[in-house]
Amino acid sequence: MQRERPFIPLMWPFTRSTPSSREPEPQVQPQSLGLVADVVRALPDPVIVVEGNGNVLLANDHAKTVLESDPQGLHISASIRAPALLEAVTAVMAGEDPLVVEYELRVPMQRSFHAHVSPLGKNEGAVIVLRDLTREQQIERMRADFVANASHELRTPLASLSGFIETIQGAAKNDEKAQVRFLGLMRSQADRMKRLIDDLLSLSRIEMNEHVRPSAEVDLTQVAGHVRDTLSGMAQEFACELKVASDGPLPVLGNRDELVQVLQNLVENALKYGSSGKRVDVECRRQGGFAEVTVRDHGPGIAAEHIPRLTERFYRVNVQESRSRGGTGLGLAIVKHIVNRHRGRLVIASEIGKGSEFVIRLPLKT
Ligand code: ADP
Repeated sequence: MQRERPFIPLMWPFTRSTPSSREPEPQVQPQSLGLVADVVRALPDPVIVVEGNGNVLLANDHAKTVLESDPQGLHISASIRAPALLEAVTAVMAGEDPLVVEYELRVPMQRSFHAHVSPLGKNEGAVIVLRDLTREQQIERMRADFVANASHELRTPLASLSGFIETIQGAAKNDEKAQVRFLGLMRSQADRMKRLIDDLLSLSRIEMNEHVRPSAEVDLTQVAGHVRDTLSGMAQEFACELKVASDGPLPVLGNRDELVQVLQNLVENALKYGSSGKRVDVECRRQGGFAEVTVRDHGPGIAAEHIPRLTERFYRVNVQESRSRGGTGLGLAIVKHIVNRHRGRLVIASEIGKGSEFVIRLPLKT
């Protein structure tokens, strides 16, 4: 827990420093240094031991990784550029109780750390134990964003449902024709909420099982054929030819329902966004030890800057276009999680004006 403490100006070298003309004396007895070094090396967190003169006596490999350099033998201020932490080290060296500091580094990239600084012996130095909070904070931010996005996506159709109910009860109370029209619109809003909830539930189910690799044998070529049959009606609606080509069975270890969902989401997207190309091709083939399925459309393509973000939840190139086609913004996030669970990879390539290619690659069952 963080404590209030007085501001103590940084004064280097520390109080017990030796004159700068002489080599600084190590403050820890040489015979115990070997053992201390072994202990520091064995610890699972980044640990830095600072001598009374401010020089770093020891830093374990975790600390070197975090600092992206080896601080040993250098003054602590040369490798840690965080005034709050340096102040805490000064204070602890001057006799303060252990201190906890949280600080941020902005270069070479934004990172956050938690540092615990405790005195070493009697004014002989300090021990800094670091914890990288960057990942934790990112996850926390993503969780908060996700809840905000999901609530927003649900609130929009809900607000329009409430609006229609109000109109039917009020202005359109005696207008049967208007009521029929509004009920149709209400149905499509309710369907949208249902799709969103189904996708959210799928995503959380897959995430919960992501660490468990599915173990049944599934033939991806057969899955592709099944998806073509299921979506042939949709292809007709979009006046698009849907073709599956294969060079034989593609056995993988998997969960059939999830793999059907992967190909269904990819083919639906190809039809929804790429139907202007009039053709969607699904190709199943062996590539080394992998089964590869490519879903290719010849539509407008996706600009390069969007491609790395397409698998983020709720990310859409064009929100209105996605909504008008019944999209939830979760389809590719679901694809990515299922493919991860199958220890596979999803590769996306696209060229504006030429179309897009979504490739899933899973290890072949041997
Ligand atoms: P959505 O429910 O919006 O379709 P997805 O996660 O499946 O959500 O896809 C995210 C976005 O990626 C879509 O909104 C669309 O902008 C873009 N996208 C996906 N597939 C294609 C494609 N074949 N061609 C062009 N854009 C696509």
